[in-house]
Amino acid sequence: MRYVSTRGGMAPLRFEDVVLEGLAPDGGLIMPERLPDVRAELDHWRGLHFAVLGAHLMSHFVDDISRDDLATMIAQSYRGFDHPAITPIRDLDDFYVLELFHGPTLAFKDVALQFLGNLFSRILAARGRTMNVLGATSGDTGSAAIAGVRGKPGLAIFVMYPNGRTSYLQELQMTTVLDDNVHCLAIDGSFDDCQAMMKEIFNDLEFKNTYRLGAVNSVNWARLLAQIVYYFYASLALDDGGKRKVTFSVPTGNFGDIFAGYLAMQMGAPIERLVLATNENDILSVFFNTGVYARGDVHFTISPSMDIQVASNFERYLYLKLGSDPEALKRFMTDFARDGRASLPTLGPVDDCIVACSVDTKETLATIRSTYERFAYIADPHTAVGIAAGRRLATNGSPLVCLATAHPAKFPESVDKAIGKPVAFHPRLDKLAGAKTRKTVLPADTQAVKAFIEAHAI
Ligand SMILES: *Cc1c(COP(=O)(O)O)cnc(C)c1O
Repeated sequence: MRYVSTRGGMAPLRFEDVVLEGLAPDGGLIMPERLPDVRAELDHWRGLHFAVLGAHLMSHFVDDISRDDLATMIAQSYRGFDHPAITPIRDLDDFYVLELFHGPTLAFKDVALQFLGNLFSRILAARGRTMNVLGATSGDTGSAAIAGVRGKPGLAIFVMYPNGRTSYLQELQMTTVLDDNVHCLAIDGSFDDCQAMMKEIFNDLEFKNTYRLGAVNSVNWARLLAQIVYYFYASLALDDGGKRKVTFSVPTGNFGDIFAGYLAMQMGAPIERLVLATNENDILSVFFNTGVYARGDVHFTISPSMDIQVASNFERYLYLKLGSDPEALKRFMTDFARDGRASLPTLGPVDDCIVACSVDTKETLATIRSTYERFAYIADPHTAVGIAAGRRLATNGSPLVCLATAHPAKFPESVDKAIGKPVAFHPRLDKLAGAKTRKTVLPADTQAVKAFIEAHAI
């Protein structure tokens, strides 16, 4: 399999180079040059363990790592998960929940980032290289990225976050990791300051090359690849031996998770349709209902990992939708960059595969409460957005699977408030209180961050 850029300006690459590259050099996103059709293999894949299924699936996209090595690496990546099924399916009678939060930081980003950390180590070791990962987080992704990289030879990670503006638990999930190669930088400034500094540092190419900076953000193709696996895993578990198709409801922010589902569907997974669920940040749900993609202001909600207006993975979807034509894609993106608005030639519902709606805070809280009362299930606010949208839009009789993207104990304020009593806890989070922490407070000054990296890079 070769990979190309959505903007058409990159010589085709193989998988390992794609992983190290992250974003394409022409500013586009990297895509496989075609999607394999795996329908002939589904009967064989049904019932396989997650890691074995993952290796079969990924070997269609990876021709520079053997299938055995892939299977070993996948199994190793999910050893830290606290459930033998990795992504277990819960049957709530009326619908199913696919729990993606059994990894070390209790959020679905672990599924991709545990695998990406191992991939980086393997590729860097083979090439005799090292990498310093630099990231900026408003709270949630930082801990999953740290958990993916901690203790790995040849890798170090520097995570900037706004000092005092993450939740208490979010900060502890980062700063209680004491491995030598982990550096938590509490920046006296906002999340926007952190992101601006990150951009500036990556744009200093001499600095970037000297310190071999790398990124783990959600545009990395390997993250999507790891996420395609659970769509096959869950749809094959529930398709009744090939007699029916399954509907997934996906709480959406950067469009990574649902795009992995879309790819699974294009490859032949037994999926009827996908429900795209947003919170008040509804640019994507408006797009899928009207064909108009228009930037708005960011709303801060109780599902903060979905408080996103411009979704970084959306370009990949558009590329496919526009017939893999880089010129058409560039026109759309140029219009959007210039006007904050762009649209497809035909207005109205955009895609038979994706239905979409937005769920506000009030309905999210009501859904947490009703899910608890009716099904004795505790959903986190992100998961609840997906449950509300799924139950509203999935009416065609195919089994509904709602993706649970975070453990409720990560968001105890909203969950306990919705249910009316303290129910959201997890022993791993309880243990963080009082644990030893390490962090460095720095001013919102690029020179100060660069000096810190110079002193601690590997
Ligand atoms: C990141 C995240 C999402 C959104 O996923 P995308 O791939 O960005 O669409 C939803 N829920 C939780 C808990 C997350 O951390």
